[in-house]
Amino acid sequence: MRPSAWFQSVTGEPIRYPLNEVRYRSDDGALLEVVHDTDALRARTPAAWMRLLDERYGRTRWPYGSGVWSRHEWVQPHVAVENVVSLYEGNSNLFWAERYGKEQLGLADVWVKQCGTSHTGSFKDLGMTVLVSSVKQMIAEGKPIRAMACASTGDTSAALAAYGAAANIPVIVLLPKGKITSAQLIQPVANGALVMALDTDFDGCMRVVQRLTEDPTLYLANSMNSLRVEGQKTISSEIVQQFDWEVPDWVLVPGGNLGNVSAIAKGFVEMQELGLIARLPRLVCCQAEQANPLYQAFVRAEAEGRDLEERDFTPISAGETLASAIRIGNPVSLPKAVRALVRCRGIVEQASEQELAEAAARADRTGMFNCPHTGVALACLEKLAGRGVVKDGERVVVVSTAHGLKFTEFKAAYHRDELPFRSAAANRPLEVGSDPDEVVAAIHRALDATHG
Ligand SMILES: *Cc1c(COP(=O)(O)O)cnc(C)c1O
Repeated sequence: MRPSAWFQSVTGEPIRYPLNEVRYRSDDGALLEVVHDTDALRARTPAAWMRLLDERYGRTRWPYGSGVWSRHEWVQPHVAVENVVSLYEGNSNLFWAERYGKEQLGLADVWVKQCGTSHTGSFKDLGMTVLVSSVKQMIAEGKPIRAMACASTGDTSAALAAYGAAANIPVIVLLPKGKITSAQLIQPVANGALVMALDTDFDGCMRVVQRLTEDPTLYLANSMNSLRVEGQKTISSEIVQQFDWEVPDWVLVPGGNLGNVSAIAKGFVEMQELGLIARLPRLVCCQAEQANPLYQAFVRAEAEGRDLEERDFTPISAGETLASAIRIGNPVSLPKAVRALVRCRGIVEQASEQELAEAAARADRTGMFNCPHTGVALACLEKLAGRGVVKDGERVVVVSTAHGLKFTEFKAAYHRDELPFRSAAANRPLEVGSDPDEVVAAIHRALDATHG
């Protein structure tokens, strides 16, 4: 049996919509999700799936060397191989944070999934390869799509611009002026996208792009688009594969629009349905205190001693945060995230600006180079370990969402001690002259000061 998949409403309404249709919501206005024909996928045994994925891992045979497209059958079976637009995303390093885990947390089994070690420097590549490949498939089938568009807090537009350029499909990006980093701005500029800098915040850009994409020839690439989840869900099976098909106990992920936390849960649930894993990990959605609507909802539900529900949620106006990519007050994927967290016995935790910056810096001192969003997740892990919720002996994975090099302004400000709090681990260059005796003496003084 050939695997197949379709769109379906998250409300469970049983109407199926084909994946090669320009459609973002169900007829009743609900979010869509991609549903796969699990029975067809079960025609291959769990052991045979593992063997197949191990054979494809990191090879050059197009397009299976991509961490996403090595799972072609699970992701978008209807996209023909010749329409795949891949930059060999995925297969990212799973970093054993040995020193950080043992010294900072008292945990021996902490890992960081480096999803930012990727073509455009964030996990957004994983979803964008699927979305742009699907658009290329639709164009090949004769659909009149002229361009793809998105509103973005920075990383989505960088990914869309790169994949659009690779596929030769025009891209329009709408960005909040002055609210993204210079690295994030220059990526779509360099890739030749039409870059619109709007005098508003992300939520304002979102309103404009929704209006823009009422025109069906302009395809909406925002995270409301459920195709991206199909790429991002491969984070979960990559993690399991990297642990020789064992499931970790905890997965922590920074959350803004909440697409990624939903995707990661979907990845684990589908693997369980195929019999590749026997249990689900517990999920932790990590929010910045300045943009914490899901955290607030979680606290409300917890106070009543019951599971999180959608009615616990109220949108907020998100405040300024160093973790600019998760500065979102009204997350589009809320219904999916609530389901994901209930399914994976999830927790929502939050981190203040100081906590995220210090956690990122502490982890950097053990060899990482963390973006502020990863800092949020690390700070949340520090809190959960401190409270004894996460215990030694448990295996923990922190999903790092972007490369630190995209957020050098944040790091520079921290180490210059220019943030609104005192940086505990600021490390400034020592400025000296060129006289060898003077330089050597300064080095010895510094070594004596730090190492006694
Ligand atoms: C997009 C993004 C997030 C948030 O992901 P959501 O799916 O919106 O929750 C976190 N970190 C980085 C670096 C991002 O680009």
